[in-house]
Amino acid sequence: MRAEIIFTGTELLLGQVLNTHAQCLGQELAALGVEIVRHTTVGDDWEGLTSALREALRRADLIITTGGLGPTSDDLTLAAVADVLGLPLVRNETVLSWIKEYFARRGQAVPENLTRQAYFPEGAIVLPNAAGTAPGCIVEKEGKIIVSLPGPPRELTPMFEDHVVPFLSKRLARGGVLNFRVVRVTGIAEYAVQDLLRDLEGKEKVQLGYIAKPGEVHVRIAAVGRDAAEAQQLVARMLKEVRARLGDYIFAYDEESIEEVAGKLLAAKGYTIAVAESCTAGMVAARLTDVPGSSAYFMGGIVAYDNKVKEKILGVQTEILRDKGAVSPETAAAMAEGVRRLLCTDTGIGITGIAGPTGGTPEKPVGLVYIAVAVPGQTVVKKYNFPGRRFAVRQGAANAALKMLRD
Ligand code: ATP
Ligand code: MG
Repeated sequence: MRAEIIFTGTELLLGQVLNTHAQCLGQELAALGVEIVRHTTVGDDWEGLTSALREALRRADLIITTGGLGPTSDDLTLAAVADVLGLPLVRNETVLSWIKEYFARRGQAVPENLTRQAYFPEGAIVLPNAAGTAPGCIVEKEGKIIVSLPGPPRELTPMFEDHVVPFLSKRLARGGVLNFRVVRVTGIAEYAVQDLLRDLEGKEKVQLGYIAKPGEVHVRIAAVGRDAAEAQQLVARMLKEVRARLGDYIFAYDEESIEEVAGKLLAAKGYTIAVAESCTAGMVAARLTDVPGSSAYFMGGIVAYDNKVKEKILGVQTEILRDKGAVSPETAAAMAEGVRRLLCTDTGIGITGIAGPTGGTPEKPVGLVYIAVAVPGQTVVKKYNFPGRRFAVRQGAANAALKMLRD
């Protein structure tokens, strides 16, 4: 299924509002396995909107519009959709009664222009709006689907997740049932992930998709089966293959967050933890404490950005810093052991690396990170080379550190 999104709103063109729908819908559609082929942004004008719709209808099977569903004269989306599909706008009595009830509860008369929101292209499926008065809709004609969603993000997101995802999942499965899992990997670039999985692509009705995120790559395994059990089985079989190849790079599945997994493990074992962070400067501490209840195991952390802090506070030996350098397995280990000792915890983490974009050398390139986990009587250090830019390197290092806790 090829999709295009048309964002409407003069405020988007003027740069007054950041187009966050692009990200939200992009991720949601990618996870469903829908291929997005184009984005268009148009102002609140009839000509711009109708011509964008006509062009998109020539290229795509699915068109999503955002914005312009409100009651004011610049809200033109549904009239434009009806126009390009050659359908009349008809009044939907159910929606009219929702609007009347909404105002009756407030003891007010229905404003004249609000009744506009009860008109939809003939045959449209109405999508209730849990957070506002303007419903969205889905219109189908001659194999083309147009989904119209409201502008405000707090209205668009639940409408998409609650009504559009189930609709599209059914459509994508075409009589069958769709199942998918997401495998989240870190410490490896998207192209390298694909290289490892290339020969699995296009096998057995199972589709592999890749989404690159800062510091991680998501591999989506999707399959359509005759029924739920078959779809699940197809995905499970492919998951096994994917696991065998990506093994150690995998840090989480689906929506699962690695900090939750790590937190559960620490809580279950009754271990406490402290972190000493150089290049991630508190990111691991922030992620660990994102989890409610983390005070049970997280004691604190030290941002040891400068060597002085590594040396004076954490007790990393001067000789190690001088001979091996700040970015070395020895320093990472000494940081982990130091913070563990200082905060009297069972576990200590030490992270030191080169986030870039400058500061790399041939021996120690940008992206090189050493992560140490110290527990009583044992310290494990791992070396990583994270691809990408500064944020991706730091995010990747934080993911990897949390992953090491789990392992
Ligand atoms: P309303 O009933 O609020 O008028 P609407 O469906 O007519 O809703 P718009 O008028 O187009 O939607 O947009 C309402 C608001 O939603 C905008 O002012 C903007 O703040 C937000 N919005 C619209 N499009 C986007 C977008 N692509 N990304 C983020 N926010 C958006
Ligand atoms: Mg509006």
